[in-house]
Amino acid sequence: MPRNSSVEIDGATQVVGVIGWPVKHSLSPPMHNAAFRALGLNWVYVAFEVHPDGIAEAMAGLRGLAIRGLNVTIPHKAAVVPHLDEISPVSQTLGVVNTIDNVDGHLSGDSTDGPGFMRALAEAGEGVTENRVVLIGAGGSARAVALAAAEEAPEELVIVNRTLERAIELAELVKQAGRVEAVRAIALDSPEVADVVNSAHVIIDSTPVGMYPHADVAPVISPKWLRRCQLVCDLTYNPRNTVLLQAAREVGARALDGTGMLVHQGAIAFERWTSQEAPVEVMRLALLEALDRAAR
Ligand code: NAP
Repeated sequence: MPRNSSVEIDGATQVVGVIGWPVKHSLSPPMHNAAFRALGLNWVYVAFEVHPDGIAEAMAGLRGLAIRGLNVTIPHKAAVVPHLDEISPVSQTLGVVNTIDNVDGHLSGDSTDGPGFMRALAEAGEGVTENRVVLIGAGGSARAVALAAAEEAPEELVIVNRTLERAIELAELVKQAGRVEAVRAIALDSPEVADVVNSAHVIIDSTPVGMYPHADVAPVISPKWLRRCQLVCDLTYNPRNTVLLQAAREVGARALDGTGMLVHQGAIAFERWTSQEAPVEVMRLALLEALDRAAR
């Protein structure tokens, strides 16, 4: 899709953005601004660095300045919740939001990470329905992905985490959400992990192991447990070709990096704010260019 560079910021420009601490590294501004240009929308996306002590003021500012929407990143995803008028059922379960929609001062929050991951999977022609799924990690991204994956009725969802208690807690959350029966939690250092990984159809690594600047480490699971017929996903997007995905490709498995999830969680937010279909390929290109620039 051609980029339309004719849209100028003027008195009618709608403002959206991201709040985080720190936030200067965010890849969302280039991604969303490229999308606005491509559709000729008079919108702009900016990054707001908000100290954790300043959340109440930031939320009042969002209303007061009629900023049309926000993405919310670390460490504010839970802290903004008490300041919102409503949150989606999935955000209620997770206790976090990553997207706020401001319609005439009414703030609604949602978590688009899980649906973003599922859209990336679908785009790759994959899914979790009736598959055995292993999720490694039980942190923020794992929680979002686990709930979204469980909605699509996998045969089994096994949550493997370094800290077993967190895996158990997430397995309980998924069970209570009533979305999948066969869910269990195991510790990353359990001898069971080799078999569980080996017999899985879909393996999702939601840990930061292999993330820049520590890209040159051993993968979180042994490459010896991977097989050709598997799909291996890594939520890390910097670098794209993580040590785990390299190992997966070496055994002939399919590999899915974290950029698809990042693009689609943004695309869902974009669609909520603008009521227009997101130009996903434009967003992806802008994201990949920004990632390349960050790597230089
Ligand atoms: P998080 O909330 O801090 O959770 C990290 C998880 O990884 C925890 O379960 C932690 O285990 C585990 N972990 C950390 N270091 C480990 C190690 N050395 N060995 C084994 N397990 C380890 O982090 P997050 O926000 O979920 O982010 C995780 C990754 O996902 C990051 O690379 C981030 O960039 C990526 N991410 C991508 C997207 C996307 O759109 N593609 C979105 C969100 C996040 P314990 O419970 O034992 O501490």
